[in-house]
Formats: sequence, structure tokens, C-alpha cells
Amino acid sequence: MSTRFWCESAWVDGKVATGVLLTADETGTLTSVETGIDTPPTIAEVVPGFTLPGGVNAHSHAFHRILRGRTHGDGGTFWTWREVMYSVAAKLTPESYETVARAVFAEMLAGGYTSVGEFHYVHHAPDGTPYGGDNEESARPRGDVSARDEPRTHAMERALARAAASAGLRIRLLDTCYLTSGIDTELSAEQARFGDGTIDGYMDRHAALSEAFATEFPIGAPGESFVHVGSAIHSIRAVPAANLPRFAELDGPVHVHLSEQPAENEASQAAYGTTPTQVLARSGVVASNLSAVHATHLSDEDIATLGGAEANIVMCPCTEADLADGIGPARELADAGATISLGSDQHVVLDALRETQGMEAGERLRSGQRGRFSPAELIESLTTGGARSLDLPVGELAVGKACDFIAVATDSMRTFGSVGEQIILSATSADVHMTVSGARVRVRDGVHAELGSIPDLYREAFAALGMED
Ligand SMILES: [Zn+2]
Repeated sequence: MSTRFWCESAWVDGKVATGVLLTADETGTLTSVETGIDTPPTIAEVVPGFTLPGGVNAHSHAFHRILRGRTHGDGGTFWTWREVMYSVAAKLTPESYETVARAVFAEMLAGGYTSVGEFHYVHHAPDGTPYGGDNEESARPRGDVSARDEPRTHAMERALARAAASAGLRIRLLDTCYLTSGIDTELSAEQARFGDGTIDGYMDRHAALSEAFATEFPIGAPGESFVHVGSAIHSIRAVPAANLPRFAELDGPVHVHLSEQPAENEASQAAYGTTPTQVLARSGVVASNLSAVHATHLSDEDIATLGGAEANIVMCPCTEADLADGIGPARELADAGATISLGSDQHVVLDALRETQGMEAGERLRSGQRGRFSPAELIESLTTGGARSLDLPVGELAVGKACDFIAVATDSMRTFGSVGEQIILSATSADVHMTVSGARVRVRDGVHAELGSIPDLYREAFAALGMED
């Protein structure tokens, strides 16, 4: 059984095409993309407006969404924001995190994304005890008898995977190594649940997770595979330089937070006598499978190193603005050979269009020039750039890719009159009227097809954290 969508206009092969007929097989994989079909066939669902490949959100911490609109009261800094974030992290259980992530992932789909790179470090119970380990009774919800037969190992990772699969969001679960609080500083009590003790502890847990997920969430055809595993180095603050070469042995995407704050650069200079980028380069991990997240405060040598290795860069402009991080050199990195992608990070907004516009806005503000990235380049950052960063078969309306797309209204008060692909600079998530993944409509007019009202999902999520008020 195949599924067909006829799109009034769509982004195909790097340009706007009209009358685009998409055909997907029963796995949700595209088997045909035809353009110039003037009349929709009766068996196809008609998709009005402008259809784009689904946005790829290459950097997310799902639970940070809970802080939105709650940290602006008295100014503060990145570091005081982080204290509030830790207080939310401390509340998470596998059960509540699944509820929270389901709401966030549903909002992500409504916001124009169909894939996510979830940079995940809340691995263990609050005291650092692994779920399903020797002390697992303490990690179980009190009085929860029904769940006793469920496997409890990797409970937090399973919670995220199940939440993504149930929402219909494709996930690359970036299993994160977090060993130290700062360079040569032990984890604090509130960070205990992030840690694996040693690099061997991380590598063993990561291998076990990859093996468990290969069975539970097997990789099949592009359209039907929703759960993928990758790895991440939290930052050069959180993983000692001596341990970094171990990440060069891993297959698949490796992500790292890089030079988001000047304080990280100062700590790196003090401990290693060089920048965080050069610490990574010396360890052999700066390669085409590496994604450097933020890359805000870089030297010219750092830009040349990342570009020369054809690394990926994940710009998170809305978060970087919210946390007063600064504006990273996206244009220079692209010119040097890096691939640019986008992430919503702590989700101050979950809007694929606004995130994309934020990168170009930052470029214009810091350079005094317009058109630093063309509309086509901005669409690539949101789609193919993210697909490369996460190594997912998405990002293009092309045969063999997953049938994942979003449809943007071209006749709203925001978008009326926009010409062709310039709509990437005028639309917002309010104009995304349909989100499809695996050839199934997941969100239509802001309502999730299976999960229902997204505000109701948040009501449930805040209640699960005891934060109703
Ligand atoms: Zn982050």
C-alpha cells in the first residue's frame, strides 16, 4: 500500500517546484517524487501552500523546555540559568521524563521539525545509581508493582526513545559522556546522575545501550526507523582531554558543546594552553562525523580546523540569544568548509522557521550586511545540514529518503506576498499547518493526530513534575 501527497509547491532538488506528487511505500519511504503535475490525482491527499523537507533539530535537551518563561525574572547569567535547570533535572524520573518528552516532541513536530538530535545526559537516579542496577529498588517509583517486570536498565534512554516514537519524531539519541564538573573538578551532587565514573564506565554503558536499542528499536527502511543512537562529549569541561581519543573509535555521529561561553575558553587555556577546538583536534575527534554545538567564541585557527575537517556546526541562535552567549561565526565556518545545521537547544522557542531566521539575523547584526546566507542556504541548514549532522536518511524530498515534510501556509497574514523560497524568512511555526513523518500526518493545524491537544500534554507534564502552579 502506498501513500500519496500532492503538494501545491515544494522544495525539490534545491528549488521551488509546483505540482509535486510524493509517493511513499508502506514503510514511509519515498519511492517517487514527480514535479509539474498540474491536477492532483484523486488518490492523493492535497497539501496546500509550500512544502519543505521536515526540519532537523540537531541539538535538543528536551527537559529544558520546562524552564521556558520562568528564568527571566531577575536577569541572571548562563550560570544562574543552569542552577534552575539543575533543579528541574533533579525532579526527573523515567516516568515523568517520558511524559515531559512526549509533550516537547509533539511541540517540536508542530514547530516544523521531524527529526531531533537529543543530547542526553540525565542517565541515572538522582544519587548516581544506575537504573536496573544493584540498588534498583531505590530507583523504582514507590509502590509501583506493575512496572517490576519492565527492564529498568537504560530507563531514562528508553523513556526518551518511547516518547519520540509515540509522537512520530525521528530521534538520534546522543548518549552523552559527562565525567567532571569542570576541568579536574569532581561532579557536584546535582550532577551525580549525569556521570558514569570513568571513560570505561561510559564506553561500557554506551555499548550496552547501543546493543539493547538495536534489538528493541531495530533499524529498517528509512521511513520506518525512528530511534537511532549516537554519542556525545558533553564538553571539554566535562570530559578530560586524556579520554577524548576514545571517541575517535566510535562509529556514527559524535556531538560536543564547544566554546559556548568565554569561561570555557579561559579554563581550556589555563589547563591545556590552547582552545577547546584545538584540544579536540589534538585528540583526533575533529572529523566529518563531529558536530560542534554553538562554536560561538572561536579563533581563526579554530575556524580553519573545523572547516578543514568538514565538521558539522550546530548553531542554536534563539538559545544563544536567550543565554547571552554571543553570535558565532557561522558564515566564516561555512566558507571554511563546515556544514551548518540548526538546533533549538533549551527551547526558548520551538519554531524551525524562527530558529533559521535567527541565524541570519545574527549574521546581519554582527556584519552590517544583508543576505549573509541565501534563502536556499538557510533551507539547507534546516534540512540537509541537520541530516548530515545526525546521519539520518532525511532532509530531502528524494527517492529513498524518509517521507518527512512540513507544509507552510502561503496565504497567512505573515506569509501573504512572500516570493518563492523567501518564505523561509517570513513564516513562523504558526504557518506550519501540517507535519508528516514516515508518510503519516502527525500534526495538523497544531493538534497532534494521536496525542491530541499539545497544551494538554504540557498540563500532564508539569503535573508529573509537581509543578502545576
Ligand atoms: Zn546544549
